[in-house]
Amino acid sequence: MSKMIEEKIHFPVQQAAKPLFVGMNLGGAYLKIGIIDNEGQIVSFFATPHYADRGPEEATICAAEAVEEALEKTGVPLSDIAAAGYSFPGALDPKTELLHRPPNFPDWEGYPIAAKLIEHTGIRSVYFSNDANAAAFAEFWIGAAQGTHSSCLLLLDKGIGCGIIVEGREIIGAHGYGGEFGHMIIDPSPGARWCNCLHQGHLEAYSSSTALARRTLELVQVGHKTMLAEEIRPQDDLFTIARKVYEVADKGDELALHLILDTARFLGLGIVTLLHTIDPECVLIGGEMMFGGKGAKIGNLFIDRIREEIEHRSFSGLGRKLKLDFASLGAYASTIGAAGLAREQDSIFSIVE
Ligand SMILES: [Zn+2]
Repeated sequence: MSKMIEEKIHFPVQQAAKPLFVGMNLGGAYLKIGIIDNEGQIVSFFATPHYADRGPEEATICAAEAVEEALEKTGVPLSDIAAAGYSFPGALDPKTELLHRPPNFPDWEGYPIAAKLIEHTGIRSVYFSNDANAAAFAEFWIGAAQGTHSSCLLLLDKGIGCGIIVEGREIIGAHGYGGEFGHMIIDPSPGARWCNCLHQGHLEAYSSSTALARRTLELVQVGHKTMLAEEIRPQDDLFTIARKVYEVADKGDELALHLILDTARFLGLGIVTLLHTIDPECVLIGGEMMFGGKGAKIGNLFIDRIREEIEHRSFSGLGRKLKLDFASLGAYASTIGAAGLAREQDSIFSIVE
């Protein structure tokens, strides 16, 4: 029996701008599938278990079956799909088009994911993208970075994901690792914090949700006065602790607010280097750790503190001119962006043909 979850988008396929695209995003426990029109509007949206632990071949066959079901439920024939995009938490070697050392799924190493999706779905073109790149492209195409020349999206989760878009093109790099901003070195000292990637001093070790939780535990354990001493339970994982830091900061807890603003300070340090390297028009903050997001008290303080650090440390004027904001597309971003990047690729091929 199908385990597909359908989300009602209420966008009639008859009103969609043709051609249509399929966007896929493998993340968390699910494969998300969107039928996306030529203007980035979601015609329909589905989620199904991704079965990645069964190995790449079985998971890909399940993905193809789910795409077929999604098209059927939307009332779209396969022939109406110009191309599909597949976003994934890892990198593809651009020369070999094989997955390269995917951190969460080691047995997917060397799998030709795009070619296999073409084989199993029958869609004529499938474009692979890193999930953060896809999310960044979606924000650039139809989200908070729409209309800008260039933008960077930083996703603050257990790690820090990053996608960089310049003049409508994603930065992939020679080996698929372009935009790994979370692993920028911001502390070269021997005592620097350890990153999730097992190197020291990377931004992710200071500004991810796991980093915030670890710094919180250190201060609570030495006896700082805070509501967190009561709120944190021994069974809490790091993500839960980070969420509780936000909750008590919102209630006025000074230590929690200090920890959040220190997270912003480190992030600002990293973004200064991003500005001096890429000079983007826009930097967006997204992911699970947005502290209530735009308009929320703590969210606003978080953005203000990042901006303060950037303006203090960047070349004159750069920090003031930067559009710094929260991302706007949330959990849909990587699915829309995967389709959007496939659309870009498809239009390039159409010109060549
Ligand atoms: Zn790292």
